[in-house]
Amino acid sequence: MDGTSDDPFMSGGVEAVPATHRELLEKLTVRESRFYTIEGEKARCLTCERRCLIPPGRTGYCRTRMNIEGKIYTLVYGDISSISVNPIEKKPFFHFWPGSRALTVGSWGCNQSCSWCQNFEISKTPPNPRTATYTSPEDLVRIASSSGCHGVSLSFNEPTLLLEYALDLFPFAKSLGLNTSYVSNGYMTVEALQRLKGSGLDAVKFDVKGDAEAVRRFCDADVSLVWRNVREAKGLGMHVEVVVLLIPGINDKEESIMEVIQRHLEYAGYDTPIHFTRFHPDYQMLDRGPTPLEKLERAYSIAKKQGVDYVYLGNCPGHRYEDTYCHSCGELLIKRRAFKIIDCKLREDCLCPACGQRIPITGRISLETKTACAAGLMDGDDERVQGTLCKS
Ligand code: SF4
Repeated sequence: MDGTSDDPFMSGGVEAVPATHRELLEKLTVRESRFYTIEGEKARCLTCERRCLIPPGRTGYCRTRMNIEGKIYTLVYGDISSISVNPIEKKPFFHFWPGSRALTVGSWGCNQSCSWCQNFEISKTPPNPRTATYTSPEDLVRIASSSGCHGVSLSFNEPTLLLEYALDLFPFAKSLGLNTSYVSNGYMTVEALQRLKGSGLDAVKFDVKGDAEAVRRFCDADVSLVWRNVREAKGLGMHVEVVVLLIPGINDKEESIMEVIQRHLEYAGYDTPIHFTRFHPDYQMLDRGPTPLEKLERAYSIAKKQGVDYVYLGNCPGHRYEDTYCHSCGELLIKRRAFKIIDCKLREDCLCPACGQRIPITGRISLETKTACAAGLMDGDDERVQGTLCKS
């Protein structure tokens, strides 16, 4: 199977009116890709590690890249399916500008095939350029600023598919002092990652779906390429956090958890935070219950024992392992409830107030958050801007 498709515009169960592909070139959301090579009549997409070889008139695996008359076009440039203001902790980033807010957007499609996807409404729906609405990079940055956000984050579906848009968006965001982040499965090519860094991408949350076998079997992907990108991102100076959704019967065996932790130590390093998050039945995976808490706590213990300094549990509101403790003296530094910081003892210079240890945090704790915590006023609720509020 080549993973390509000639039926790209099925959306919401309604087939788009047939038309020539040339007509698509007039749409604002259809732009020539900057990442492909020509191989005879076909073109090879170099956006992600699927490296689809796409014949004319067809789309790649993700259905967001199309070969139109020998060139590859992205069909999702500025086609924003979802937008909301989120606490950065929701990504989750716990060591990147803690307490800040990010205007978070997504588009359509995905380049992996996980049957437990929590955002399947958009990730499993291909774009339809004929009905798409277009948000320019400039407008998006303006919305972020006027919404009181400290950054912009591409999330919800796989942001690698918004690559060309991101390359135009991030310089605008940086020029206004906003930080930038990706919430990604990390399956982009190295060239794409390097270009993202060059355009101003500050942080990547890498979703590692499990050990090599689980990722091959359930996501149709090679996890060693994700770990390669983790190392590459660190080498490029980006802020990195790793998230592992622990799913009963898929990736929660002790050997599987150990493999992930070993790779984390090898490719990300002991001071890169790792989050083990709790699965809830969703999409096509409704045949099992949520991850037992003991499993998550066991993963936490193994990771700590193996030498990871900052380990967190996610989707366990109120659990003590959502909090940040100094890796040197054990002092409680940041107390969270779900995505809210509810208490903060970390100094503004990111030193532990008890022992003076430097805590590996990119940026600094938001002053607004620190003040609100001190006054007992912390409220990190999401604020919907428009469209779908996603569960990422
Ligand atoms: S982005 Fe990835 S999945 Fe999509 S067409 Fe390109 S190589 Fe294939």
